[in-house]
Amino acid sequence: MHIPEFDNSFLNKLPGDSSSENFSRQVLKACWSKVAPTPVVNPKLLAYSKEVANLLDLSDELMASPALTQALAGNQLLQGMETYATCYGGHQFGHWSGQLGDGRAIFLGELLNRAGRRFELQLKGAGPTPYSRRADGRAVLRSSIREFLCSEAMHHLGVPTTRALSLLATGETVIRDMFYDGHPMAEQGAIVCRVAPSFTRFGHFEILAARGDFDLLKTLVSFTIARDFPELLANFKNRIADDVVDASLIKQWFIEICERTAVMIAHWMRVGFVHGVMNTDNMSILGLTIDYGPYGWVDSFDPGWTPNTTDADGKRYRFGRQPEIARWNLERLADALNTLLPEGENLSPELKHFDTRYFAEFSSALAGKFGFMHWQDGDETIVNTCFDLMKRAEVDMTLFFTQLAELDIKQPDTEILRIAFYSDDSYQQYAQDFLAWLTNYITRLQQDAETTESRIRRMQQFNPRYVLRNYLAQEAIDLAEQGDFSRIHTLLQVLRKPYEKQDGREQFSEKRPDWARNKAGCSMLSCSS
Ligand code: AMP
Ligand code: MG
Repeated sequence: MHIPEFDNSFLNKLPGDSSSENFSRQVLKACWSKVAPTPVVNPKLLAYSKEVANLLDLSDELMASPALTQALAGNQLLQGMETYATCYGGHQFGHWSGQLGDGRAIFLGELLNRAGRRFELQLKGAGPTPYSRRADGRAVLRSSIREFLCSEAMHHLGVPTTRALSLLATGETVIRDMFYDGHPMAEQGAIVCRVAPSFTRFGHFEILAARGDFDLLKTLVSFTIARDFPELLANFKNRIADDVVDASLIKQWFIEICERTAVMIAHWMRVGFVHGVMNTDNMSILGLTIDYGPYGWVDSFDPGWTPNTTDADGKRYRFGRQPEIARWNLERLADALNTLLPEGENLSPELKHFDTRYFAEFSSALAGKFGFMHWQDGDETIVNTCFDLMKRAEVDMTLFFTQLAELDIKQPDTEILRIAFYSDDSYQQYAQDFLAWLTNYITRLQQDAETTESRIRRMQQFNPRYVLRNYLAQEAIDLAEQGDFSRIHTLLQVLRKPYEKQDGREQFSEKRPDWARNKAGCSMLSCSS
């Protein structure tokens, strides 16, 4: 059986904590702390992603072996694995929070696959670390199912994301007060093994700048560029060393981070994903969607919607605000990196790359969604009128666009859109407005010299049929909590091909049923997980 090779460069090349004891503390002058996962009594592998296993050269045989279950539970490591947690800080809800760090994520090391690609592996929920503060380092089944399924769903949607290898039940219980309202309950514990080329966050750099540890900041920057952005080095030979990071290299690197972040956010806005907790500690330096907590999917279109009850007052992280928040987060990263630039220089000009790239990506995503060949002047009016109507009439975002692709443009009729409305009264009320909109829309489509078939094909590439609607995840969770894991497997299967019509799977593309409108887990989630 092929046992993969590990090369734990984050540990080997960056300085670590002088203590290896496991108690909560501030960790200074170090990027990581060695920490062993806390063993669990009865680990059971509930599901795994075949695609991720393939990526890591883990055969079905190895995945099915007790040794791998033990490793994915943190009970017994495979050869080459080393376990540690990393130090980062972050701005949470607009305020600097100081040290946060991997409070319930423990790295297993960096796996090198046969093709030479490097992946960090991380167990989420494997017990406390020096960064756990007063929390337990554990994760519950419901949030682990949500992270496992959504990571893979996002990947198949074409959205940059961290991946999930496995979902495992620990056989232990975890106490959580789901809505922080004085009702703690024992819930089943679980561990997800997450996988990404790098889990480094904006907060890894922010904490070092905040502490004035500029030497280590330089070291981490040069390590990150060399390991995770090697393509940038081609133009900067000999201009990187532990203590010297060329200012123009930092600028190029920061542009790349801005661009990747812009691409990621444009995808979120295209598919209707709301992250829910866009704190800077939850922003990946690689522009990957990271830390699936109280995220949600837009059902009825509403830029003001947030799934996160912890954010209900200010709705800082609502759907429509995500681009603005991403930029704000990049500004905080720039604040940290500016400390490495020569006097009088800063990254403000580079930040503009976020704006231009986001505009380019999002407008081409919108063009794709609406079936325009290219984004052109005036499209904004057509698109915004539509969004405004969708919001007022409570129209399902995903269904609206899959239905729009089926519109007969020779005989415009709102009937095709009817199933996307959450109430029939609303359909009756707004049908005339939508008909008027359709007339303008069709006039716009006719300006493009494109066949109907080609337009529809393109629209289908931008508009998913199957997304992990909040209620779908919740149904899988309700069943799993009763010991039935079949829905997790079904959803994993359906979400593999989110853009294709799947016979017999129609139920998973339907709009949110009425019972789920205000149900916990379906429309409301908290950070408690
Ligand atoms: P999050 O809101 O999940 O991104 O977490 C913010 C911070 O709290 C991170 O430093 C996490 O590691 C930490 N954290 C969240 N939940 C726990 C937990 N159950 N045990 C320890 N640390 C946690
Ligand atoms: Mg986090």
